[in-house]
Amino acid sequence: MTTHTVRLRSRHMVADDTMAFHFEKPAGFDFKPGQAIDLTLEGSAGQLPGGEDLKHAFSIVSAPHQEELVIATRMRNSAFKRALGALPADGSAAVDGPFGSLTLHKKPDRGAVLIAGGIGVTPFMSMLRHATHERSPRELRLLYTNHRPEDAAFLTELRDLERQNPRFTLVATMTRMEQSTLAWEGPVERIDGELIRQAAGAMAHPAFYLAGPPAMVEAVLQTLSSAGVDEDDVRSETFFGY
Ligand SMILES: Cc1cc2nc3c(=O)[nH]c(=O)nc-3n(C[C@H](O)[C@H](O)[C@H](O)COP(=O)(O)OP(=O)(O)OC[C@H]3O[C@@H](n4cnc5c(N)ncnc54)[C@H](O)[C@@H]3O)c2cc1C
Repeated sequence: MTTHTVRLRSRHMVADDTMAFHFEKPAGFDFKPGQAIDLTLEGSAGQLPGGEDLKHAFSIVSAPHQEELVIATRMRNSAFKRALGALPADGSAAVDGPFGSLTLHKKPDRGAVLIAGGIGVTPFMSMLRHATHERSPRELRLLYTNHRPEDAAFLTELRDLERQNPRFTLVATMTRMEQSTLAWEGPVERIDGELIRQAAGAMAHPAFYLAGPPAMVEAVLQTLSSAGVDEDDVRSETFFGY
C-alpha cells in the first residue's frame, strides 16, 4: 500500500447528519469497487482528547472511472469526525490503500445480492456506479435498510441508477417510519428471510455481500445460514468504530 497526500475539494450532505467528502484522486490510484482506504488527518497527529486515533477506514463511494476519491460517513460526535468536519476546503489528508476484499466475484454471469444497513451502503455505491457505467451484464439487487428515508444516503441516486441499469433492482426498507416526516410506500420491516427472498427474486445461485452495523451483519449472516445459503456464497467485512 502506498501513502498519498490528497486535498479536499468539496463536501455535501447525503442524508441527515451524513456527509460525503470529495478528495482529489492521486494520479494512478487504482482500486476495485467495494475496496476501502485509511484516511489520516494530516497536521493533527497530536493527541486528541480521549486519545482517539486520527486514522479511520472508509469504503470508497466513488467508482474507479470517476475523477474524485469520495467517502461518506455519519457525522457522529467523535474526535475523528469532528476533525474531519473541520477540515477546510483545500485541506490535506493522507490516504493509504486501497485494501479489502468486499469486491464482486469475477464471473459477471453470476448475480449478486448486496445487503446494506445505513451508511454501510458506501461500498455498494461504487459497485453500482461502476456496473452501470460499464453496462455490466451482471444482475444486481440492493436490499437497503435504514430507520427513515431521511437517513438513507444516496437514495435518489440509487433510484436513478435503477432507471439507467435494467439489471439493477433496489429494495429499500425503513424500519422507524414513526419517526419520519416523509412519505414512504415501501417495506417497513427489518431485513428478514422474506425480504431477502424478495430481493433475490428468480436469481439462480446468487452471491451475497453484506455491509452495515455489526448487529445487522450478524443477524443477516444467521438468516442466510438458516436459509441454507453456503458460507462460501457470502462475503462480508466488519468495520467497527463508526
Ligand atoms: C464493509 C463495510 C463498509 C463500511 N463502510 C463505511 C463507510 O465507508 N463509512 C461509514 O461511516 N461507515 C461504514 N461502515 C460502518 C457501518 O455501516 C456502520 O457501522 C453502520 O452503518 C452504523 O450506523 P448507521 O447509523 O448507518 O446504521 P443505523 O441507521 O443504526 O441502522 C441501519 C439499519 O440497520 C438496521 N439494523 C440494525 N441492527 C439490525 C439487526 N440486528 N437486524 C436487522 N436490521 C438491523 C436498522 O433497523 C436500520 O434500518 C462500513 C461497514 C462495513 C461492514
